[in-house]
Amino acid sequence: MRTSVFPRRYVQGPGVLRQLGPELSKLGKEIFALVDKMVIDQITPFLDSLAPLSVTIRPFTGHCTHKTVEEIAAEALGSHATVLVAFGGGSVLDVGRSAAAAASMAFVSAPTVAASDAPCSGISIVYDDNGVMAGRLSLRNPDLVIVDTAVIVKAPVRFFAAGIGDGLATWYEADSCRRSHGPTISGTAGTLLAHAAAELCRDTILDRGRQAVRDCAAGLATPDVDAVGEATVLLSGIGFESGGLGAAHAIHNGLTMLPATARYMHGEKVAFGLLASLFLSPRPDSLRRELFSFCADVGLPVRLRDIGCDGADDAALATIAAKACQPGANIHNEPFPVTEEMVVTALRAADLYGAAYRAD
Ligand SMILES: [Zn+2]
Repeated sequence: MRTSVFPRRYVQGPGVLRQLGPELSKLGKEIFALVDKMVIDQITPFLDSLAPLSVTIRPFTGHCTHKTVEEIAAEALGSHATVLVAFGGGSVLDVGRSAAAAASMAFVSAPTVAASDAPCSGISIVYDDNGVMAGRLSLRNPDLVIVDTAVIVKAPVRFFAAGIGDGLATWYEADSCRRSHGPTISGTAGTLLAHAAAELCRDTILDRGRQAVRDCAAGLATPDVDAVGEATVLLSGIGFESGGLGAAHAIHNGLTMLPATARYMHGEKVAFGLLASLFLSPRPDSLRRELFSFCADVGLPVRLRDIGCDGADDAALATIAAKACQPGANIHNEPFPVTEEMVVTALRAADLYGAAYRAD
């Protein structure tokens, strides 16, 4: 059995939020808009011009917890909306996706940063009141994903680079799952389409990522930004959800155990997880050189200190490895057995290798 899941419709390009009215009216006439407070001034003009659609705007800041989801779902139901559209980063999209599911409403994912491959997925990460990850909800994929690249390039370039880090790992992890017959998020094997999407994601990022990051830093929604945005949001989204995860995300999960890594983004930690995974098995040095130099060029971490870790702290490395290798972890989708000792060695080897790519 093999499974693929997708968003129902994907729309992307510079200025596409001007098409929000016609896009939303395909789904319903009463809209509940959950908007990250960070982008409220940027997004409100688009929402104010949606007549004859009726729109309730709800500014939001915070994490995706069971309590927030219940609150937002109740407000959305009270507004008599049939469509919930969420504008913002991962937390807002996760709250929106979960609340729309709880309220049986159509869901529109409108990422305002391209910082991860979550916008197209059907997965929400839920946190407890202390900000610690409490679980993962498997929900419906969005009815529409709308990505305005003119909005994406207004966010700090670090977000765009983090999305590249998350997307760069996708093919390597999907390939591990394919070779090991490991399960994807849906619990079955992946599809040819997901592997092809992941491969195109990797090639697009490696070919055009450096230029896209330069353009994004300058606030320019160029064709390279568009291509890499599609790679990190759509291709990586299909690639990870229907192709599966491996060592890079497992090491990311290990890194999150250290409070000092909290100020680094998901995609930054995944990128270092990918670099470390290149030392779990024999790999051509040309591959390591390619990925380390790419990460250094686009501002992704190549050393442990780049994500708040001290390479000399044995206890910290042991903590990362223990979490990465816990039973059921994605690292066991690699096509060879992985032990905690192997992970500690790989973290150290990657850190040492990265020294050549980052001047002190
Ligand atoms: Zn990820």
